[in-house]
Amino acid sequence: MILEAYGIRKSFDRDVLSDIDIKLKTGSITVLIGPSGAGKSTLLAILGLILKYDSGTIKILGKSIENLSDNRLSDIRNRHIGFLFQSHYLMKSFSVMENIIMPAMIARLNRNDASKRAKKFLERLGLSDIGDRRVETLSGGESQRISLLRAMIMRPELILADEPTGNLDSLSCNQLLSLIKWANKAGETFLIATHDKNVASIADEVLTLKDGKLI
Ligand code: ADP
Ligand code: MG
Repeated sequence: MILEAYGIRKSFDRDVLSDIDIKLKTGSITVLIGPSGAGKSTLLAILGLILKYDSGTIKILGKSIENLSDNRLSDIRNRHIGFLFQSHYLMKSFSVMENIIMPAMIARLNRNDASKRAKKFLERLGLSDIGDRRVETLSGGESQRISLLRAMIMRPELILADEPTGNLDSLSCNQLLSLIKWANKAGETFLIATHDKNVASIADEVLTLKDGKLI
């Protein structure tokens, strides 16, 4: 199990998550659906160790994260979890290659190793020719695929994706979904929050968030 969470509760001015149990099996794609405001982004932020929760337990790779310092939490996040959002948040004035290896640079890993891995990703996808392009010249679909490669550069076990197809037309959406399947075959486990029914087509498991509970 990559991640297990039990009895997760979170309130803002109202109860958003009331009693969430979730398990993400190694190598699986789980799709989380639910209407806007259901708490999907809140749950992903909690499982991604970005947002504190009121009560419950989270285990990542079998280890409880309770009572860990913020430094330890961000360490676990950087090593084991990648993120993909509705907006790509690529760095405008940098090249595609520089964007993909950015997390490795921030973690002070060897630049050559990271570049080699990024090149391999681009080759496998038939995108070798775009490595040197500035990201501002990419289409929305290309940007989103490049941000998935950036999320994979540290080889995290788990990728959390929040409405990753939200801004994409149907062709780009299908291209991103095939890239997700490719990443999954390469060993990544995914949890994808969406209200796009197409995304459920690649899921091993579909969970629905309703009234603060998973069904
Ligand atoms: P979803 O992603 O399913 O659309 P969210 O997790 O974004 O839902 O939001 C769930 C609920 O929590 C909404 O009612 C939202 O207004 C509320 N909420 C989310 N973040 C905050 C916050 N930082 N402060 C107050 N309320 C919040
Ligand atoms: Mg959301």
